Amino acid sequence: MDQIIIKTGDITEENVCAIVNAANSSLMGGGGVDGAIHRAGGTQILEACRKIRKEQYPDGLPTGEAVATPAGNLPAKFVIHTVGPVYHLCGDNCALLLASCYTNALKIAIEVGCKDIAFPAISTGIYGYPKVEAAHIAYETVKDLLKERDDMKVSFVFHNNEDKEIFLKTIQEKR
Ligand code: ADP
Repeated sequence: MDQIIIKTGDITEENVCAIVNAANSSLMGGGGVDGAIHRAGGTQILEACRKIRKEQYPDGLPTGEAVATPAGNLPAKFVIHTVGPVYHLCGDNCALLLASCYTNALKIAIEVGCKDIAFPAISTGIYGYPKVEAAHIAYETVKDLLKERDDMKVSFVFHNNEDKEIFLKTIQEKR
């Protein structure tokens, strides 16, 4: 499907309308891709996150939900923050919650007028989601959503080649 791009790289360098942050519910930054995005994007992102916490989500952004902020110094226009499930805590809801991250992030991207969006491998780092299962969920969810949106482009950006290969191998028979 030529609406889907699968690549290795640093998502903070993606020149797309929106990049997705695998945030935690505090929205105050953290490790992994979250830390990289806040470091590269600067304080504008954190300020916008603080405002969202105060005005919309005083108890934190729930797992599976997504919100958009400006992208500060990044080439992207927006950062869409979503909270992936922590694998050892999500029980029977893991797959649904992970799929919601992709669905809600894409929905927000469309709402803010974006036609391209780049995703990291949500939950597969510190949050411990098995990479093969996460790949199935990410790919199937995005592929289904794109059937209704032939004007959208989605990139899956992996931090290293090994993760990209796992993803490609997992989805191969379905492409
Ligand atoms: P989570 O807490 O949701 O597991 P992590 O940031 O720990 O989030 O990891 C999610 C994925 O993002 C991991 O596969 C990790 O290798 C990847 N990652 C980390 N930094 C970057 C980056 N700068 N660009 C793209 N992917 C990244």
